[in-house]
This record gives sequence, structure tokens and C-alpha cells, in this order.
Amino acid sequence: MTLTTVKTVQDIRAIVKAWQAEGLTVALVPTMGALHKGHLSLITAAKESCDRVIASIFVNPKQFGPNEDLDTYPRQEATDAALLKKAKCDALYLPNVTEMYPTGFATQIQVPALDGILCGASRPVFFTGIATVVSKLLIQASCDQAFFGEKDFQQLTLIKRLATDLNLPTEIHGCPIIREEDGLAASSRNIYLTEKERPIAPSLHQTLQTVKTAVEAGSPIGAETAKAKASLTALGFDVDYLEIRTLIDLSLLTENLDQPARLFAATYLGKTRLIDNLGVSLK
Ligand code: AMP
Repeated sequence: MTLTTVKTVQDIRAIVKAWQAEGLTVALVPTMGALHKGHLSLITAAKESCDRVIASIFVNPKQFGPNEDLDTYPRQEATDAALLKKAKCDALYLPNVTEMYPTGFATQIQVPALDGILCGASRPVFFTGIATVVSKLLIQASCDQAFFGEKDFQQLTLIKRLATDLNLPTEIHGCPIIREEDGLAASSRNIYLTEKERPIAPSLHQTLQTVKTAVEAGSPIGAETAKAKASLTALGFDVDYLEIRTLIDLSLLTENLDQPARLFAATYLGKTRLIDNLGVSLK
């Protein structure tokens, strides 16, 4: 089995159209590469649901702020292609920056109701960059389905919103967070963790589990999230946010857990930004 690699909008359109003309369903799995088991779980889910699967790799400059890690973001195309082949992915879409943003490119997609909170509060260009590139990828490929991870739950919520609002024909699926054995959510950025930081990193997930157990048992949200922030800070994390928000529109819950919600956290451990989230609901 071969992994077809395409680099242009014209070529991605041609292969998707050819498959669809044969009556096959096609899935897209957008990534920024440096693939790990979290990404590969999306390929597996896509394969279970569709006849053909395309992964895209594009490190999107528009979602990185000026002091963020665009230049050092891990890039390993050959290894990624081998992993995709092993996972029986059918095609790899590898556009370059000029293909995605040709000279004169001037459009932005924004979802203001969802992009100024959580990760968007400290990363102002982040979600506009993501909304713009994901809209483009979905339009370019025009696949039947697309798969995203709950690891980036705010991103998933925003993509579902924009796909609905823009009447994009692609069905958006969310897939569960894949973790290392010690609970740390798999991430391309985990390789930045130093030897000293790596054993501390799973405390983020453990702390979220503690908050989940307490608030699901009826403890007030504000008190539990404050305690969790203090204990993460004592462990050496720099906490950006730790909040519970509703599933329906990500509005903040500070007192009682009165509807299905999600517990979100973002922290820095040294220079590495770690995010995680968990579902919470009253038993
Ligand atoms: P990225 O390459 O970080 O942009 O991620 C590409 C896709 O993989 C996104 O939909 C992520 O949410 C998803 N993803 C990344 N890490 C994980 C993980 N640990 N578990 C599940 N999905 C993930």
C-alpha cells in the first residue's frame, strides 16, 4: 500500500473528487506533524468511519504569536510519512506556506464568541489562525468527514461552530484524548520537557482528576479550582488558567456544577506549554 503525497490545492481536490466519484467516503485529519499516538488515534477513527483517509501536515504560521515556537516547532516529515504509511493512511497533504497563503492573501475567519477565552485570552492570534487555516483545509479537501482531538477541546468546539455557521459540508468528529501511561496527554510539545520536568508533568492530569472528583461530589467549583491552581503552582507549574466551562457554549461556571461541563487547564512547566481537559458532570 502506498501513501500518496500531494502538495497543492489542485491535487488534493483531484484525489478527493476521484475517490468520491467512485462512491467512496473520504476523511481528513488535519495536523501540524511531529505525529504521535494521539494523531494516530484520529487516523484509526477516520479509517473506521470512511473508505479513504487523508492526513494533512501544515505548521500554520498564522496561529503562532511573535514570541511563540514557530521556528522551533518540531518538523519530521519523513518520520511522519512512515508513521502514516504504517497506520494505513491513504494520502498525505503537505501544502507549503505559499500554497496556503499566496501573495495578497487577506481573509480571516473569526469566531469571537469562542476565541477570547481559555487559550485565546493569552494567545490573541491563535484561534483566528486556526479558524482560518482549518476553514481553508476543509474547503480545499471538501471531504465527507474530518477528525479532531478533544485534547484541544476549545479548538474542536470552535471548528464545530464554524463548520455549522459556514455551512461547510464536512461532518466534524471529536476523538478522546490519548495519554501516556502516567496520564500526561500526548503532545508534540512534550519533547520540550526536560528530564527534571517530565516526571512532574503528569501532575497536571492528576490535579484535574482531583478537581473533577470533588466538584462531581458537590464541592463548590471556585474553591476547588483555586486549590488546584495553588497546588500546581507549588509543584512548579505556572498556571495560565484552570476553569470549568459549560459544554454548550463554553461559558464559565464558578459555583455549582448544574449542567454538563468541561474542566480546562493550561500551564507552563518551564518553557513548555501543557494543556489538558476533562469532562465533568453531576453523578
Ligand atoms: P496538532 O498537530 O497538535 O495540531 O494536532 C492535530 C490534531 O491531533 C488535533 O485535532 C489535536 O486535537 C489532535 N491531538 C493532538 N494530541 C492529541 C491527543 N493526545 N489525543 C487526541 N488527539 C490529539
